[in-house]
Amino acid sequence: MAAEKALALVLRVVDFSETSAVVGLFTREFGKMHALAKGAKRPKGPFDSALDLLSQCRIVFLRRSAGALDLLTEARLERRFHFRRRDLSSLYAGYYVAELLSELAHEDDPQPELFDVTAATLVELEGSMGVPILTLRYEMSVLRLMGHLPTLTTCAGCGAAIQPAGRIPFGHAAGGALCAACRPGQKDVSSLSTDGWRAMQTLSQPDDAWRGLENATAIRGELRGLLNHFWNHLLGKRLRLTAYLGA
Ligand SMILES: [Zn+2]
Repeated sequence: MAAEKALALVLRVVDFSETSAVVGLFTREFGKMHALAKGAKRPKGPFDSALDLLSQCRIVFLRRSAGALDLLTEARLERRFHFRRRDLSSLYAGYYVAELLSELAHEDDPQPELFDVTAATLVELEGSMGVPILTLRYEMSVLRLMGHLPTLTTCAGCGAAIQPAGRIPFGHAAGGALCAACRPGQKDVSSLSTDGWRAMQTLSQPDDAWRGLENATAIRGELRGLLNHFWNHLLGKRLRLTAYLGA
């Protein structure tokens, strides 16, 4: 068994026995993984409280054969996520980030850019920028980096340019905006205001223009509803933390 090292975010900690836990991790080097942490629940255990939800730590683990859990041998805390707001909004957003990664990330499929975006988002959630816009921005980044970004400027059905006039049909099954010709007969269709449609494009660009949307309350609410629906469709289920996200 070779010892491997990784930079990891803790996504889940589940009791395994009286003293041990199974941790779900999102690592920069290996993607998502699960590992057995023996002694994790002992007060002065070997992991020294590094394994809290959303903690970022340097881990060492032993690879086990297929089907067996990897064995965590070391976890050194690098930074801990603090929610400093008076309400619980940033904590819920942090939990939502962990839930999204648990659902979407794959084992043995490293996505270093997604790791970096996630770590940066957790840092921003501790700051003063609005939680709802940070959450939307993170979701659009996840969709972009995982290749699930909906098509917006062209029709998801036929590829024609979308005319930004009136409300724009958005097909969850089709995977994006729809032109008038493709709209009839499509299932699972929402509609977007032209402002919402533009904001969604802004949020999906890698640059910083999205920061200008922090106070666009109505648009945030509209996109929150649309993305809840879009995730439901993509994952085939409702994310638990959705109910706790504000707009
Ligand atoms: Zn079309």
